[in-house]
Amino acid sequence: MWRYRGVIPIINDNNIVTFQEGNTPLTEVILPNNKLVWIKQDHLFPTGSYKDRGASVLISKAKELGVSKIIQDSSGNAGAAIAAYAAAANIPCEIYLPEETSLSKIVQIEAYGAKIIKVPGSRKDTAKRALMESQNSYYASHSYNPYFFQGTKTFAYELAEQLNWNAPDILVIPAGNGTLLLGCYIGFHELVQQKIIQKMPKLVAVQSEKCSPLFHYFHDQNFNMNLYEPSETIAEGIAIPNPVRLSQMFQAIKKTGGDVVLVSDSEIIEAWKYISRLGYFIEPTSAATIAGLINYSNNLDPNLKIASVFTGSGLKSIDKIQKILGQTNIKL
Ligand SMILES: *Cc1c(COP(=O)(O)O)cnc(C)c1O
Repeated sequence: MWRYRGVIPIINDNNIVTFQEGNTPLTEVILPNNKLVWIKQDHLFPTGSYKDRGASVLISKAKELGVSKIIQDSSGNAGAAIAAYAAAANIPCEIYLPEETSLSKIVQIEAYGAKIIKVPGSRKDTAKRALMESQNSYYASHSYNPYFFQGTKTFAYELAEQLNWNAPDILVIPAGNGTLLLGCYIGFHELVQQKIIQKMPKLVAVQSEKCSPLFHYFHDQNFNMNLYEPSETIAEGIAIPNPVRLSQMFQAIKKTGGDVVLVSDSEIIEAWKYISRLGYFIEPTSAATIAGLINYSNNLDPNLKIASVFTGSGLKSIDKIQKILGQTNIKL
C-alpha cells in the first residue's frame, strides 16, 4: 500500500512502519444470482484484516511524533492490527477490551506483546474507559484518529489502479465505525480531484439488521442514536451501536448517490457458506458484506461494474464458525 507514499501524510520515510502489506488481489466472483463482481481480498493482510491499512499509517505517525505509549480499545481486529504494528515500532501498547471478547482475538493481541485490560460492561464502557486513559497516552483509536483513515483510503487507490484507473460503478462495503467506508470516500474523492478517475463510485453500506444505526439515520430523519437499542448479531465486527462518525458516513453515502442496506443473520450464514465453498475462508462479519452485495446486486443492470471486499480472515473467529458448521442441518 506504500506504493501510494506520495499521498500518505508521513513526513520522514524512516518512520514508516510496514510489513510490505497491501495491494491485495482483486478477483472475479460469481454470486449465487449469477452476477459477476470484483472482490478485493483484504482478509489476506498480515494480521488477518484490512485494519492493517489504518494501523500501518497510524503507528508510523505515532513513531514520527515520538509517542512513548499508545492505547486503543477494540473488540478484535483493530486491536490486533494496532498491537502488531506497535510491536514492529517497539512502542508499548495497551488494548482495552470488553470482558466477553472471544478468546481467539485476545490470544492474537497478547501474542504481539500488548497489555490487555478487560473492562466490565458493554463495548461502550470500554470505549469510555479508553478515552479517559488517553489523557496520558496516545489514543490510537481507529474510529477517532484521522491517520487511520489515511491508511484505509489506500483501498480506493488500489482498487482504481487494478481497474486500470477507473472507479467501479458500485462499491459495497461494511459499515460499523465506517473506517473502510470513509477511507474509500477520501481515496476516491482525491482521485477525482486529481482527475485520475472520472467519477465517484456509489458507496453502498451494509449493516446487520440487529445493529443498524446508520440505516435508521439514513432512512428516518427523527432517528435518535442515543436511544437506539441493538441486539446481538453474528456479524460482531460491524455491531457498533453509537458510531462517532455517523453523520460523516451519512454524508459520504448521500454525496455518491449510494444507499444503506440491511442483512439478517441467516442471510449472513448463507453467504458465508457460499463463499467458503468457492475456497475463500472469511469471518462471519465479512460475510455480512457479501450478503448485502447479493441482495443489492439482484436487480442491477449486468453491465454495471460492481466491487466489494473480504474484510477479515476466517481464522479470526473459529468459535463462531464452529457453531455455523454445527448448524448445517438448519434450514436457512
Ligand atoms: C472493522 C471491520 C469491519 C467494519 O469496519 P468499520 O470500521 O467498523 O466500519 C468489517 N469487517 C471486519 C472483518 C472488520 O474487522
